Amino acid sequence: MKLATKIIHAGTEPDPGTGAIMTPIFQTSTYVQEAPGKNKGFEYARSQNPTRKALEEALAQIENGRHGLAFSSGVAATDAVIKLLLPGDEVIAASDMYGGTYRLFTKVFEKFGIRFIYVDTTDPENVKNAITSKTKLIWLETPTNPLMNISDIRAIADIAKTAGCLLCVDNTFASPYLQNPLDLGADIVMHSSTKYLGGHSDVIQGALVMNDDTLREHLYFIQKSCGAVPGPMDCFLVLRGIKTLHLRMQRHCENGEKIANWLRNHPKVGKVYWCGFQDHPGYAVASRQMRGFGGMMSFELKDDNTDKAMAVLSSTKIFALAESLGGVESLINHPATMTHASIPREERIRNGLTDSLIRLSVGVEDADDLISDLEQAIG
Ligand SMILES: *Cc1c(COP(=O)(O)O)cnc(C)c1O
Repeated sequence: MKLATKIIHAGTEPDPGTGAIMTPIFQTSTYVQEAPGKNKGFEYARSQNPTRKALEEALAQIENGRHGLAFSSGVAATDAVIKLLLPGDEVIAASDMYGGTYRLFTKVFEKFGIRFIYVDTTDPENVKNAITSKTKLIWLETPTNPLMNISDIRAIADIAKTAGCLLCVDNTFASPYLQNPLDLGADIVMHSSTKYLGGHSDVIQGALVMNDDTLREHLYFIQKSCGAVPGPMDCFLVLRGIKTLHLRMQRHCENGEKIANWLRNHPKVGKVYWCGFQDHPGYAVASRQMRGFGGMMSFELKDDNTDKAMAVLSSTKIFALAESLGGVESLINHPATMTHASIPREERIRNGLTDSLIRLSVGVEDADDLISDLEQAIG
């Protein structure tokens, strides 16, 4: 099946009891058993839930994987992956990535003796050079949040394979509509389903997708043992969100392209970070591994003027000032004080994340209205 058909039908079968075309919300904590140990495959809802099962099947199919696992948030999904490791193990991670991932790694897991080595993953050589006998995992995010840096998944998957370690790719920004890391050799795909998969800013959720059966068993064991499972209502919402992923992403891409080009030609705007520009350093890799460039972008004002950036952030009328991304509505965000405030300033600036940087999650409204809104805000 082609992607659009898969996105709509993956994981959903009419309910055998009623014929309901949408998977019911199985709002139950337990399941009645015929005899001890004799059941219909469902024992206790932390371990199994039919709504979650339908969603996990859908997640697997749209990422071209064999197994999907849903978690109560994106960071809970990341947390489960790191719990595969032991004290003394090393993780090579991207130096520019989601602030919450960085916080989880440095503030929670370093305390348990896991070491994180941050490198600029846009050059695979840096990853290769950081490998040691203790490296067990490479953690990639591409495109990155918020600088839209691109890493070559296939090249880094080859490095991981040679080193005998796992590669996990945070595919939140691209969504399965634009990029499928498992097809490029990654072992695990992670999503904050809160973003494009849910798509309507009404749910917090995370996902992992993988091919290997043993890896699935380990991650399922962590999911049920640690208990960060999503509720059935939230699973239903993400399942419903997925059904329009291709329609939304198509418009996100169209609007993204128009706005990125408009920003780039604006006299008061400095650098614009969008991976669809032909002179973006990751353009060649992005064109190879992605099917489009999406609606996420960042820009600076000329002279890196923080006061002016603050004024822009407070004066948009359609773009809502808020954290998060990937919903149908457009959002504007100030990474330095909002999503990336947990990264120390010197480290942030060193990675190019300046004080005046503004991030946009371009929604699916009319592009002309969005441009007029930015026009009046930037002045
Ligand atoms: C939001 C986000 C996360 C964390 O997901 P939550 O659902 O908020 O826990 C991880 N990675 C990226 C790229 C994100 O944007």
